[in-house]
Amino acid sequence: MMSQRMQDAFNEQIKNEFYSSYIYLSMAAWLDHGNLPGMATWMRAQAQEEAVHAMKLFDHLLDRGAQPVLQPIPQPPVTFSGALEAFEQAHRHEQEVTRSINELYGLSLEERDFAGRVLLDWFISEQVEEEKTSGLVVEQLRMVGDDRLGLLLLDRELGQRKAGAGDGAAD
Ligand code: MG
Repeated sequence: MMSQRMQDAFNEQIKNEFYSSYIYLSMAAWLDHGNLPGMATWMRAQAQEEAVHAMKLFDHLLDRGAQPVLQPIPQPPVTFSGALEAFEQAHRHEQEVTRSINELYGLSLEERDFAGRVLLDWFISEQVEEEKTSGLVVEQLRMVGDDRLGLLLLDRELGQRKAGAGDGAAD
């Protein structure tokens, strides 16, 4: 059985993951509406991944005999000054998620919750990937700058992303 502290922290992280999903879906809406459907596809895939992350924690609580308690999800940002700002926000958000996962990992050690810690190992590795991929798009958008053709080419490339690819959803 998980301690109440661990359960509360897992419930909080479920909210964080669904909020991440909400942010990326909101960015997808803004990008698609702004005629950047490839970048919107990338964000939609990202939103789906985040929902998978939330469900990993949700299922872990149930597997351990605890009931997940869903928390209210705040409204995400709805407008951005451009694609660069949206991806910069996404990247900063991932850095914040990494911080929350690290906190949770620290708590699992404190509480000697080794089963929870094993699950969190996956999240620690996943955050390295998340920061790398969102950071790369930010850098490429900075390279493109005001070049409209570059922006359209990048939009086309990011549209190749498949939902669920590289998120470890299969494991
Ligand atoms: Mg996540």
